[in-house]
Amino acid sequence: MLTSNFIDAYFGRMIALAGLAEKVVRCRKCDDLNEKRTLSAPGYGTPMSPVILLGQSLCTACMETQIPFTRGSGYLIDRALAEIEKFRWDVFITNVVHCHPPNNRPSKEQEIQSCLIYLVREINIVRPTLIVCLGRDAASAISSISDKTVEMEMQDMMAGEHCCTVVRVHHPAYAMRGGCDADKWVRVLARMIEPLFDEFPIDEGYAVVQKE
Ligand code: SF4
Repeated sequence: MLTSNFIDAYFGRMIALAGLAEKVVRCRKCDDLNEKRTLSAPGYGTPMSPVILLGQSLCTACMETQIPFTRGSGYLIDRALAEIEKFRWDVFITNVVHCHPPNNRPSKEQEIQSCLIYLVREINIVRPTLIVCLGRDAASAISSISDKTVEMEMQDMMAGEHCCTVVRVHHPAYAMRGGCDADKWVRVLARMIEPLFDEFPIDEGYAVVQKE
């Protein structure tokens, strides 16, 4: 049975994420990003997800769909979710840098630091139990916070009741290229996040909210 607290939290978080997404789409903090050629994409998925899957920056296909990890290596994420009978809208997927770097160049340090505020706010809204960093770059970016505002928001979050675990796995593109066993990568991600849904049965809540 769905409680009114759950419904309030769901819609409150949805509204907060929508407001944040608008800011990301309008953001012009980085010189050559978020223009016609290199659009942004805010985080995607349910605001009640117990897990955030975190990448480094947007790929070209993600700009078209406005959904992080579209096609390409996102296929392995979809497979892992399918193993536990979930879809990508059952989780929350985002990036450290919410824009596509031109010509797929690596993100600049200034871009990472400028964009971390959006990530921290997404984390604060979704309040996951687990953050899975997909690849070394995402993991090192999240641990390299130097902006004072971002640092304070992180401290506020940690000081509150909420606390989450951060883990790192190989980037799915690395697994796709044969850097590690892709089937095993899928199984590891699936097993890692599956118990979180048992603790928090989101399916029921999500379905009821969808009907209303
Ligand atoms: S990367 Fe982030 S901070 Fe930079 S323009 Fe895009 S949304 Fe703004």
